[in-house]
Amino acid sequence: MNLSIQLFEQLAHITSLRDIQRLELSLLKTLHETLPIDNALMIKLEQDSTIRCLVRLSDNTQELLTLAPEDAPDWLDLSWASGKSDSAPQSFELPDSKKTYLSLFPLVDLKTHNLCLAFTSARQLTPPEQLLVKGFLQIYRNFCALVTDAQQDQLTGLLNRKTFDEAILHLIQNSDQPPVHQERRSKKRLISTQDRRQVANKVNSWIAVLDIDNFKRINDRFGHLYGDEVLILLARIMREAFRQEDLLYRFGGEEFVVVTQPAQKEGAIQAFERLREKIATYPFPQVGEVTISIGLTRIRPDYPVPTLLDRADQALYFAKRNGKNKVCVYEQLIEQGALNPVTIETGEVELF
Ligand code: GH3
Ligand code: MG
Ligand code: MG
Repeated sequence: MNLSIQLFEQLAHITSLRDIQRLELSLLKTLHETLPIDNALMIKLEQDSTIRCLVRLSDNTQELLTLAPEDAPDWLDLSWASGKSDSAPQSFELPDSKKTYLSLFPLVDLKTHNLCLAFTSARQLTPPEQLLVKGFLQIYRNFCALVTDAQQDQLTGLLNRKTFDEAILHLIQNSDQPPVHQERRSKKRLISTQDRRQVANKVNSWIAVLDIDNFKRINDRFGHLYGDEVLILLARIMREAFRQEDLLYRFGGEEFVVVTQPAQKEGAIQAFERLREKIATYPFPQVGEVTISIGLTRIRPDYPVPTLLDRADQALYFAKRNGKNKVCVYEQLIEQGALNPVTIETGEVELF
């Protein structure tokens, strides 16, 4: 097919996407199909240019694989990529290689992270090819900004309610995909499907509903601006408390939802206890002490999302009725006989 028609088609596809992961997949596929490259990696960088993770296409090019920095392929010396996020593209012959060239294309100013594309090829990319990569990266950046804006809550920068349903369904459907920190344990290899299933069987994702205690009183006493400041600071503390891969939402008002990546029960409870404690001891300007209550439940992939939310809500309201500033776990409350089981949509009573 004529190259420019092919490019237009790929461009049309990229601009139809509203999901960052699919954008990444499409960008890498397009570059693989259009340029004479052998390997392509997307290196995600933190704002301070340290490396967060690496993303590459699977061998059948149908999905993205995320690698920890220590699993970088031999041809990629990460010291080239880190610290170069604000510099111009570079291309050079790899030392000790038989005519293998490495090209690095940094991309800054993404809302959530910076990145650097790394390619190997048997010849140096020509100036028009380099321009093509830069053009695609700019389109990718613009679309990332649009997608991120549409997904974010304006006040806190957390994800908004609108994106919750799709994201949680995606997480449940892909619940055999371990997050990056689990792949990290498998040095220099990609985790196999069998390993993924084993990992998934041992651990579960968790969903929590968080609500600020007596927030109305804070607004009434200090005014809405100080109330807003509490929401912003709380969101910041939440971001510090959870992993990059965990999903943090402002659901509305002073209510937040967290969906964790797979974790053991004890680890999940500890993470929310630490957050509760951190908030309770944080000196909020002017306002002073603020506390939150948290209801937590295990995500069961076979349960409808409203049922999971309902369970977390029940645990939250138990915490509210019993003194607030608490983390309550739905499954523990059922075991203790403190709550009646939430019936699932089929009308059956969930037996524990
Ligand atoms: P509880 O401990 O039972 O949760 O009591 P509460 O006072 O936190 O709960 P209630 O639902 O009675 O009050 C929530 C308040 O949150 C009422 C509303 O004015 C305030 N609120 C909702 N959204 C915002 C917002 O965006 N900014 C500010 N400052 N306040 C908000
Ligand atoms: Mg409240
Ligand atoms: Mg509330």
